[in-house]
Amino acid sequence: MEEHNQIAGYLDELRRSERLTLGTSAAGSQSHLASFENRSAFNYQRDRNVSSGSASNVHTCSLQTVRNASNDPLKYLSKYFNIKPEESRLTQVEALGAEVARLEGAVRNLSEREESLLASFDPPRFIVEHYWDRFMAKVGVRLNSVEIPYPEYIFEYVSAGGNSSQVARIILDTETIDHLVFFLAEKIRFKRSAAGQRALMTARLRSEIKQRDNFTCQGCGVSVMVEPHLLLEVDHIIPVSRGGLSVRENLQTLCWRCNRTKSNRLPA
Ligand SMILES: [Zn+2]
Repeated sequence: MEEHNQIAGYLDELRRSERLTLGTSAAGSQSHLASFENRSAFNYQRDRNVSSGSASNVHTCSLQTVRNASNDPLKYLSKYFNIKPEESRLTQVEALGAEVARLEGAVRNLSEREESLLASFDPPRFIVEHYWDRFMAKVGVRLNSVEIPYPEYIFEYVSAGGNSSQVARIILDTETIDHLVFFLAEKIRFKRSAAGQRALMTARLRSEIKQRDNFTCQGCGVSVMVEPHLLLEVDHIIPVSRGGLSVRENLQTLCWRCNRTKSNRLPA
């Protein structure tokens, strides 16, 4: 239970992490121009469907662009949010993927722990159904929201009078980030860059590394054989911020404690 509550706190830390963005340059210069133009002309008239304005993750555009973006999200994400097919950008997207995977891993781990706590208490069903939060609070278990603050990119059309609005929303969860990694790598490979020679940081590679390391923390040696609910993460030995690449030799399995200690020592 103590470990459960510690992981709940760790999850809060991860949620607040500033690493959950693709950096300020992700807001393309074009998106700023577009929203500025709109607001200056029409802002005072609008009572509904007000444009999201200058938010760096919102691209205000034509209806056609919103439609195109929902049909071909990666291409439009890359083009309008300045996520260019460049080696350095690809590395940032991979690093973002690692942070999102950490969050997803912590959320999954917590709900597994909650289930096994539930099994060990075996409370009456009506309590589980109607008083679960209160019951867990009494027992001393901190329940955590399962929401993950996925980075979101929005293509938004607002008509001149503000009467109609349409949006295409791209949510960077693990699946989308993996697709984005492949999308960028394909383009970079085409330009014969180093990306062709290295592994790509994806959900698949992360699970491969955990398997290679026998689901054992390379820092303290604790493993899932000893602790069935152990939260394991994949770490860049040389951090991405210091030029470390997502290659197998630079990746290792760490338990959440060792990884947290390391990230606090090496701020991104
Ligand atoms: Zn460890």
